[in-house]
Amino acid sequence: MAGETHGLPVAELGKTEAGNYFVANYPPFSLWTPERVGEATDRLQTRGDPSNPLGLYVHIPFCRKRCHFCYFKVYTDRNKDDIRAYLDAVIAEVERLGRTPFVEGRTLDFVYFGGGTPSYLSTEQLRYLFDGLRGAVSWEGAREIAFECEPGTLNEKKVHAIAQLGVTRLSLGIENFDDDVLEINNRAHRSRQVHDACAWAPSAGFEQINIDLIAGMVGETPENWRRCIERALEMAPDVVTIYQMEVPFNTTIYRDMREQGREIAPVADWPTKRQWVADAFDAFEAAGYHVASAYTVVKDPARTKFVYRDALWDGADMLGTGVSSFGLLGPVHYQNRHRIEQYVEEVERGASAIYRAMTMTDEERMIRQFVLQMKLGRLSRRPFIERFGVDVFDRFADTLQAYAQSGLLSIEGDVLTLSREGLLQVDRLLHAFFLPEHREVRYA
Ligand code: SF4
Repeated sequence: MAGETHGLPVAELGKTEAGNYFVANYPPFSLWTPERVGEATDRLQTRGDPSNPLGLYVHIPFCRKRCHFCYFKVYTDRNKDDIRAYLDAVIAEVERLGRTPFVEGRTLDFVYFGGGTPSYLSTEQLRYLFDGLRGAVSWEGAREIAFECEPGTLNEKKVHAIAQLGVTRLSLGIENFDDDVLEINNRAHRSRQVHDACAWAPSAGFEQINIDLIAGMVGETPENWRRCIERALEMAPDVVTIYQMEVPFNTTIYRDMREQGREIAPVADWPTKRQWVADAFDAFEAAGYHVASAYTVVKDPARTKFVYRDALWDGADMLGTGVSSFGLLGPVHYQNRHRIEQYVEEVERGASAIYRAMTMTDEERMIRQFVLQMKLGRLSRRPFIERFGVDVFDRFADTLQAYAQSGLLSIEGDVLTLSREGLLQVDRLLHAFFLPEHREVRYA
């Protein structure tokens, strides 16, 4: 991270260097340790707060190919038996969690199937998984069942089967519409499959369909990005999520950079990526969409909620299940084992799958909620006073003033609003709100 003056990072983010840009959580993951696993397992033995929403995240770590920009835990070489063993382990893990005092008596408010590629599973495997999970925990009345797809893993029947399983939010990982860009980045699908998926999904009955795009993939050009925006507009999905390409250390792109002795990633610089997202936001606003966060535009904000994101950023409890998943139990963060063999083995022998954990202080919880909600582009100080007894506008006065003077945000009464410029670079602004000892910590 750059040094700071008055809370404002000194260096403009120019060329894309390796490292994590996106702030997914707080405190940084590298502070969660194996020595503190007991804090999570103990927490599961205490009653959860029934007034706090409870969610379930299920990680499906299989993909057809590994994208060059991918930093997730994924496997591309597993057979049917491996997958069955993994699904059995996930079901067993959820059964076990469902019997803990923390979960007993509570129903799930939201469920998220992420990966990896949940749609890599066959319809039969999906039915098996859903049946097993439903037998373990109740999600009757859940506000959202979200499910990530890679377009090339779908066929018309499967799309309808996913809807019949109760999925309410289908998310299509399109990333780019151009076959050359998809190929250069080692993405498994091609534009033909995007076209098919987009033709099948709307008639299947999902409450909402999201498409994911990435601004600044390797090989991206201004002309192609313009075409991507046009194609996305033609599809008219309920939500469009646009990430700015980052190059974390555990990606193929970074491995190649290291081998070639390069410090700068072969992708557009940050100002260009920001501009591309700004152009997309402008085009969608002109078409009647609304900017709902630093990464999303939605067609109808009254109808289209993203329960998983909003609940999580508001401190909801979440059971993170499957290999390398992240979970939150009140103030306790945890992450599961990150090798699939180890994960399955631990669950099969009836042990906890948790690998590392940490308990947040009240101050860390307050900061977590503050930085995550900044990504929505707007927050009120009142909930922080009510929940934590902290006036965040006083607590962060110097940094907020510096950002306001730079035109990145404004404060009126109880409400803080990021300007478009601030919103488009919000992740790089957040580190200034971290506790000093967390600002230089590697985010992995
Ligand atoms: S599809 Fe997603 S999870 Fe799978 S390799 Fe590509 S980026 Fe990673």
